Amino acid sequence: MRIRFWGVRGSVPTPQPENLRYGGNTSCVEVRAGEQIFIFDCGTGFRCLGQQLGHEFNSRPVTAHIFVSHFHWDHIQGIPFFGPLYDRTENRFLFHASKRTRSLKRVMEEQMASPYFPVNTNEMKAQRDFYDLEEGQIELDDVAVQAAWLNHPQGCMGYRLETKDGVFVYATDNEPGDAVFDKNVRRLAAGADVLVYDSQYLPEEYAARKRGWGHSHWREAINIVMESGAKELILYHHDPDHDDRCIDNVVKEARNHYPRAIL
Ligand SMILES: [Zn+2]
Ligand SMILES: [Zn+2]
Repeated sequence: MRIRFWGVRGSVPTPQPENLRYGGNTSCVEVRAGEQIFIFDCGTGFRCLGQQLGHEFNSRPVTAHIFVSHFHWDHIQGIPFFGPLYDRTENRFLFHASKRTRSLKRVMEEQMASPYFPVNTNEMKAQRDFYDLEEGQIELDDVAVQAAWLNHPQGCMGYRLETKDGVFVYATDNEPGDAVFDKNVRRLAAGADVLVYDSQYLPEEYAARKRGWGHSHWREAINIVMESGAKELILYHHDPDHDDRCIDNVVKEARNHYPRAIL
């Protein structure tokens, strides 16, 4: 399993020099398991992934499963800028998202509607299939995917990807403190090899003024990893106001409590 982070920022892209070590693009993670490509969220990092796939596949068609956790801008803004959607009819993208608030197909049409974008989804030549993914499990060849709701305004889906090479869990945009969702995220993370988890705020910021905003912090990430038996913790979805120096301190502190934490 190979995991690549194309955007780790929450809320809004932040391309200032003081943020460039961790990066300023919004949420997008790519997982390769054998020949299969899985993509989690389509923030502005999704555009750079599209460029990379264009170089790598060149004249060969690309197929990928794309999981969209929810439809806030930082998770969809890269979609209209993802080259492989426009390039060729042989490309195929299988989109998985919950329809509870709205279908992803409609979200894409609306985000590209006049006057917000110069072209509409009819310009996308690639085959696009949309699957309604609610809580539960689906099988994609030899890979199983579990989905569970997390605690976030308008909802957010967390995902657990079980491959023969390992278990990857993507759980972002989740606020602690609700018994049902706290249990959901621990169940998703149980025994995982890698847990990617929302660490938008510092614990003290969260306690002082960010309750109810739908996000978490590194201290809760460590609670989850310890209680669920997940192995490697990757802190993710960083606040736009946290520069590289601030994030360096987060990882230093987090490692005092759990050495296998990275950013
Ligand atoms: Zn977000
Ligand atoms: Zn959100």
